[in-house]
Amino acid sequence: MTDTDAVVIGAGPVGLFQVFQLGLLGLRAHVIDVLPESGGQCAALYPDKPIYDVPGVPRCTGRELTRLLLTQAQPFLQPADSTSADAADRGAPSSPYANVHLGQQVSELARAEDGHWLVTSDRGQQWRARAVFVAAGAGAFVPRSLNLPGLQDAVNVHFHVPEAGALPWSGQHVVVVGGGDEALSAVLSLAEDSDPARRPARLTLLHRRDVFQAEPDLDAAVRALIAQGRVALCVGMPTEVHATDAVVQALTLLTPEEAAVRLALDHVLIRQGMSPKLGPLTSWGMALERKQVAVNTATFETSLPQVYAVGDINTYPGKKRLLLCGFHEATMAAHAASAALNPGSPQHLLYTTTSPLLRERLGVA
Ligand SMILES: Cc1cc2nc3c(=O)[nH]c(=O)nc-3n(C[C@H](O)[C@H](O)[C@H](O)COP(=O)(O)OP(=O)(O)OC[C@H]3O[C@@H](n4cnc5c(N)ncnc54)[C@H](O)[C@@H]3O)c2cc1C
Repeated sequence: MTDTDAVVIGAGPVGLFQVFQLGLLGLRAHVIDVLPESGGQCAALYPDKPIYDVPGVPRCTGRELTRLLLTQAQPFLQPADSTSADAADRGAPSSPYANVHLGQQVSELARAEDGHWLVTSDRGQQWRARAVFVAAGAGAFVPRSLNLPGLQDAVNVHFHVPEAGALPWSGQHVVVVGGGDEALSAVLSLAEDSDPARRPARLTLLHRRDVFQAEPDLDAAVRALIAQGRVALCVGMPTEVHATDAVVQALTLLTPEEAAVRLALDHVLIRQGMSPKLGPLTSWGMALERKQVAVNTATFETSLPQVYAVGDINTYPGKKRLLLCGFHEATMAAHAASAALNPGSPQHLLYTTTSPLLRERLGVA
């Protein structure tokens, strides 16, 4: 059980900015996300697409915005320590920060008798906090899989491209499933890894038809790899999984000519996009309106005391699902929580430009 002032559910752009705003007000936060990396929709849905309407940032990609938000929150992110080792023991992906927990879905939110909130993840990790910030976007992003028995628990079925430096699939036959941007960019990054020793020995792109739904540049780059014989294109629908001891050995495919062929492999990388699932948060007792969390717009508090909802997950009259609006909501919620957690102490509005206290918290002279 980790004790903290605040838990932020969701490490999307709004959740990351929430950590920053809480830090400025002297509140320590832990942030949890089901994805293996921070950035929410920006990182998962449009990492390389440009954003033009973040104030003061004329243009940046989803990945760049995530990097900027992490840099801004840096004073309030703790370097990884034994807490992260605990998460790793539970099979969660590694995080560079002890207070950013990745690869874990928050499954329960319950109130203890002393008024603290208990937050529990699907990997059994627990946090005890005085305030909770639900920054869950459209829900927990879970990868779209193939609906075939034997695939879900297999150890050689993956949904994410390994980070640079992580254990490579060199010398192996990797089959990438999908025909959109995500599948094609995975093929490109595996085929063109700057370290040849990390590249798979064989790379196959498996898609149900010989037409991709990807950006023209990406389409052309992968078509070139196929023409050079560096990637094999396999057209067919997987219909059966051949697995032994939770290791997939081969897939049976139904080709467009209705022939059944067997594709032997070492690893399957399924890249068919993500779909958000509201999942457990619908049962936490917060008042919902059309599958979104209703909030008071002065505080962004939900119907539960000291549980705030910010970003795409909330709803109120005039709500706009924009980054800018989420950043405003995170700021308002942090101030409201600070006032609620410190009753009786005056809440002065301080500027980062001029306040020695804020500058000290930011670690700047
Ligand atoms: C293609 C596209 C382009 C866009 N372009 C723009 C633009 O140009 N300008 C703009 O302002 N907005 C844009 N948006 C909208 C913007 O991306 C969203 O408003 C923003 O991402 C919302 O941030 P968030 O942090 O609230 O939610 P999200 O980004 O959705 O992040 C929520 C995170 O919470 C996690 N999560 C949810 N539930 C749980 C749980 N139970 N346990 C653990 N983790 C959980 C999810 O996995 C996710 O990572 C765009 C959106 C898309 C799809």
